[in-house]
Amino acid sequence: MAREKDASAWGFDTRAIHAGQAPDPTTGAIITPIYQTSTYVQEGIGRHKGYEYSRVSNPTRTALEQNVASLEGAPHGFAFASGMSAIDAIMRLLSPGDHVVASDNLYGGSTRLFRMVLERYGLEFSFVDSSSVAGVERALRARTRILFVETPTNPMMVVADIAGLAGLAKKSGITLVVDNTFLSPYFQRPIELGAEIVVHSSTKYLGGHSDVIGGFVATTRADVAEHLAFMQKAVGAIPSPFDAWLILRGTKTLAVRMRQHEDNARAVAAFLAAHPAARRVYYPGLPDHPGHALAKRQASGFGAMISFVLESRARAEAVLARLRIFALAESLGGVESLVCHPATMTHASIPADERERLGISDAMVRLSVGIEDKEDLVADLAAALE
Ligand SMILES: *Cc1c(COP(=O)(O)O)cnc(C)c1O
Repeated sequence: MAREKDASAWGFDTRAIHAGQAPDPTTGAIITPIYQTSTYVQEGIGRHKGYEYSRVSNPTRTALEQNVASLEGAPHGFAFASGMSAIDAIMRLLSPGDHVVASDNLYGGSTRLFRMVLERYGLEFSFVDSSSVAGVERALRARTRILFVETPTNPMMVVADIAGLAGLAKKSGITLVVDNTFLSPYFQRPIELGAEIVVHSSTKYLGGHSDVIGGFVATTRADVAEHLAFMQKAVGAIPSPFDAWLILRGTKTLAVRMRQHEDNARAVAAFLAAHPAARRVYYPGLPDHPGHALAKRQASGFGAMISFVLESRARAEAVLARLRIFALAESLGGVESLVCHPATMTHASIPADERERLGISDAMVRLSVGIEDKEDLVADLAAALE
């Protein structure tokens, strides 16, 4: 490598741009090339430059893996083809009969993977309110191996105490996995709070431009790292070199994007909180949010996901139809503002009574606040709510 970069001493913004990204050794290209190759020529039997076949490893992917691992403060990082395949690779640490305790309002795709795929292979899951460490502790069984939480959750923005759960996991000999997609390592670094595994849908803030699907796992544990590398090789749910490159391009601006996302989200949340049509507003940055103090303590920002409840489903539909900048779409975390109707979109697979228990009303609207001018976003909402 031309100039070895010891990124560990640098701040987050510098690491976002430089970690894992020494100039290309053959040309000096400042940007890690898209190594669009399946195989690598060997000099002789067993003599190669560390790359043999791209399912196992690829230099563009390696750059991404070093970059995001550095941002999460983890010694090991692994890129996957999607957030779902990343979560699946983690769950393959388990054997039939093993038990997982998970947050009860996880991303719908995670619940679907657990219930409709992994239960068929003999894994057992309990879904609990992960904002209560005592409640999580009560759900533990002799065969509990993994505690899987999202914080804040989607779409209720329930905040879980990462350090408290890490303490419980440690005491009980189980592994805490945190899905850190919503806040990104810019605002929240679960490993610093004691989690051993962090997972991402890189499709969201890490990529940041709504143009790629990807997943990522960072870990402190050498045995888990060995398992994940083996899963990349044995199962093959890896990102293409181009997809790895797109996410690497995204992480360079993660810090500036997250600052703008949050600045805009605070303005939008304040506007909604004062608007009579919004019966309830769920945003951890609002002082009356039940997880506000905890969110403030364990993260350096509140992110840019906001849910709010209107008078009725008809009113929600009318508002969705009238928004001009916020686009009606699933997903989140891109530069453009999106809006969705959780009950019929992201959370449609959850039975109605379960949705009701979780508080996901038919009159709820969820925003992913982008980085446009905040005045335009507030004006768009004001006009739609009129
Ligand atoms: C989107 C998402 C996932 C799934 O990731 P994909 O990249 O869509 O496979 C997992 N967890 C959370 C919190 C997400 O928002």
